[in-house]
Amino acid sequence: MRSPLAPGSTIGILGGGQLGRMLSLAAARLGLKTHIYSDRTDDPGFDVAAARTTAPYSDTDALAAFAQSVDIVTCEFENVPAGTLAALSGTVAVCPPPQAFAVAQDRLHEKDFLKERGIAVASYAAVDGSEDLEAAFAAVKLPALLKTRRLGYDGKGQVRIRNRAEAEDAFAELGAVPAILEGFVAFDREVSVIAARGSDGAMVFYDPAENVHDRGILATSRVPSALSAEHASQAKEITRTVAEALSYVGVLCVELFHRATETPALLVNEIAPRVHNSGHWTIDACAVDQFENHIRAIANWPLGNPGRHSDAVMVNLVGEEIDRWEKLAGQPDLALHIYGKNGTSPGRKMGHYTRLFPKV
Ligand code: AMP
Repeated sequence: MRSPLAPGSTIGILGGGQLGRMLSLAAARLGLKTHIYSDRTDDPGFDVAAARTTAPYSDTDALAAFAQSVDIVTCEFENVPAGTLAALSGTVAVCPPPQAFAVAQDRLHEKDFLKERGIAVASYAAVDGSEDLEAAFAAVKLPALLKTRRLGYDGKGQVRIRNRAEAEDAFAELGAVPAILEGFVAFDREVSVIAARGSDGAMVFYDPAENVHDRGILATSRVPSALSAEHASQAKEITRTVAEALSYVGVLCVELFHRATETPALLVNEIAPRVHNSGHWTIDACAVDQFENHIRAIANWPLGNPGRHSDAVMVNLVGEEIDRWEKLAGQPDLALHIYGKNGTSPGRKMGHYTRLFPKV
């Protein structure tokens, strides 16, 4: 087993968005430095990292220099090209393991991976070309969603289908790229489990959060969720199965649909091999938050206590909602987080706040 990274060591982070920024802040609290590598020049993570590289993810020279300058590499987004991970992993340890990205980057692989491990998912069928639609409708009942296999996020790359006649146009609208047809789940709520796993296999779990999306983008996360104790524990066990199957090291998020009175009650929607927006409440409501536990896991430190001292509601500030910052800053009962991004655009996550309440 690797020995723990000593304070003063440097963690390389691929991606410099708000998650890279919050990972850097957590690393700094533990006396660890970060070097952020991104293909953008103005990422908000750059403001709080000890070193920065701006270069394409395919630039093998820049990747080699980056690998030499850090003690370990991690990622803040799941669509890191496989070639980038391969180029780095010859020189430096990469956590989470590349197989976690391979599974999470492709909705068909992800669903197959889950199903093979006995984890329930919505009904689905592969649609590589429009000629596959007929067979897909035999396997998946309407209404359904047609989703691109790759590069979908925040509700992008998916179209709702109410009748077969809409399917051809929907496939064309998505760019006629490989897709899956997925049965629409009439869920009672969406929940997510954030967990950390160390290289020794130890795991800690945060309480499942209940998430509300607005036009595909996370709007709020609330803890505790309305899951029964039994379903909360099932959600954590599903997350354990996923993490173990991937030999995972770091923080992982599993997003699920919950149907309180159906069997099975929990269907996995997707896996994110990284810290996650639905875990931002952990910064203010937990002894050790998701960012610190990710750093601890990859640095081979003991995992921290995920216990929650308060109930919490996290609210995302999307697009121009950030203009309320001054009013929000004046409210004594909330914790405000502003990501320091250059420029607002619709749908862009600009910050969030968390309101704490006494634990019930
Ligand atoms: P995704 O990008 O797949 O996570 O989808 C974004 C959001 O769309 C989810 O958080 C759900 O609110 C909704 N959604 C995705 N897939 C389904 C489904 N099969 N049934 C119902 N709602 C879905």
